[in-house]
Amino acid sequence: MKVNEYYRASSIEDAYLKLQENPKNVILAGGLWIKKIGQDCNALVDLSTLGLNKISETKDEVIVGSMVTQRDFENSPLIRSLFNDSIAFAVREVMGVNFRNIATVGGSIMGRYPFSDVICGLLPYHVTLEFYPKQTMSLEEYLEYKGKLNAILVSIHIKKEKGRGFFKKVKITALDFPIVNFAVSKVNGKYSIVVGARPMVAALAKKAMEYINSLSKISELDYKKAAEIAAEELSYLDNKDSSKEYRIDLTKVYVARGLKEVSK
Ligand SMILES: Cc1cc2nc3c(=O)[nH]c(=O)nc-3n(C[C@H](O)[C@H](O)[C@H](O)COP(=O)(O)OP(=O)(O)OC[C@H]3O[C@@H](n4cnc5c(N)ncnc54)[C@H](O)[C@@H]3O)c2cc1C
Repeated sequence: MKVNEYYRASSIEDAYLKLQENPKNVILAGGLWIKKIGQDCNALVDLSTLGLNKISETKDEVIVGSMVTQRDFENSPLIRSLFNDSIAFAVREVMGVNFRNIATVGGSIMGRYPFSDVICGLLPYHVTLEFYPKQTMSLEEYLEYKGKLNAILVSIHIKKEKGRGFFKKVKITALDFPIVNFAVSKVNGKYSIVVGARPMVAALAKKAMEYINSLSKISELDYKKAAEIAAEELSYLDNKDSSKEYRIDLTKVYVARGLKEVSK
């Protein structure tokens, strides 16, 4: 890994201007993924002194600065109060505590990692990303955005709503990447179903959601039917960690279990 310059930004505007100077300048958050892939860059633009490491709230939202560490996120009473702690639980499944003391929520979202537990855990909810220069988009829109967004993530806005959540990461060993992950929610009476690490980035199982949300009375069989739809509508692949068939079998089990759990 070669880096020509370390640059500590003095403001978000300063960071953005530095980013524009050279296509090989990159934003530095926790730096763990940049290090892992050994990314060569011209300048590393550090955001660590810009005050983006705070979690706050308004009447309607919890607002998470992009430089908040995964550890501060998972321990935040504001985050823990949302959806029976299920978003915090998803983040708690990443590596160990020392790692999460460094890895940031912003770095976890901007990378759009196919294995991401953080993205999977957030996707069932109303989550809006705020960028510099001024632009907002939902997390789902960002995941579908083609190409690299030439902007800096400033904050993540999570809408405060009443509901329950479920998260499950299936992994081979305790500190491993997921071989598949699931997040299910019931918010304001509506279900959302997310399957990630298939091994593609987390996505909403919209047909399964449409099915379960169209029913006026729901039985255990309907949870299973919705899980089967989720297993059919999303694409799954083999990789060295798991076969496609195993991922599909796990989807049928855990989506049904998640739906049952959030219905309690
Ligand atoms: C060994 C290892 C194991 C892992 N296991 C898991 C796992 O099991 N589950 C899981 O969910 N995740 C896992 N991760 C990913 C980890 O949780 C983080 O998501 C990852 O390290 C990125 O966070 P970071 O703060 O280190 O970002 P960095 O490495 O600093 O940055 C990552 C990317 O995001 C860009 N970026 C960062 N912040 C911003 C911003 N504010 N605006 C614009 N661009 C930005 C950077 O330029 C870079 O391209 C793992 C990572 C490693 C290294």
